[in-house]
Amino acid sequence: MCIFCKIVQGEMPSNKILENDDFLAFHDIFPKAPIHIIIIPKEHIENFQLTPPDVMQKITPFIQEVAKLLELDQSGYRLITNNGKDGGQEVPHLHFHLLGGTKLSWPQLAQDSAKKAL
Ligand code: AMP
Ligand code: ZN
Repeated sequence: MCIFCKIVQGEMPSNKILENDDFLAFHDIFPKAPIHIIIIPKEHIENFQLTPPDVMQKITPFIQEVAKLLELDQSGYRLITNNGKDGGQEVPHLHFHLLGGTKLSWPQLAQDSAKKAL
């Protein structure tokens, strides 16, 4: 069982923010911003690429509710999902990083320079 499934099952502790029948939001254990929340479906789905559209439809208002609860809905936030090896995904259970609480920078994410598109 993956670590996020263990959190869902209560076999591993987490600092929960919000929960309903389908989704769970909890604090990231190694926060990369003043507010760093992990949002997951309770069902084990490996990554975004394998996610059925109806899950995205249902998780959207849940994420919006988490943002409101943390009073980030007006100030803004960043929502990230890392997908697979090159995306830097470490936990193989679909999750969204909700980051905020400060003005976030837009870092260079790779050493390789971008291919010229134009
Ligand atoms: P990713 O690299 O996109 O797969 O992100 C995995 C995230 O899960 C990282 O930001 C970790 O800090 C976080 N994480 C790993 N284990 C736990 C845990 N037990 N509780 C809360 N967050 C965790
Ligand atoms: Zn899982």
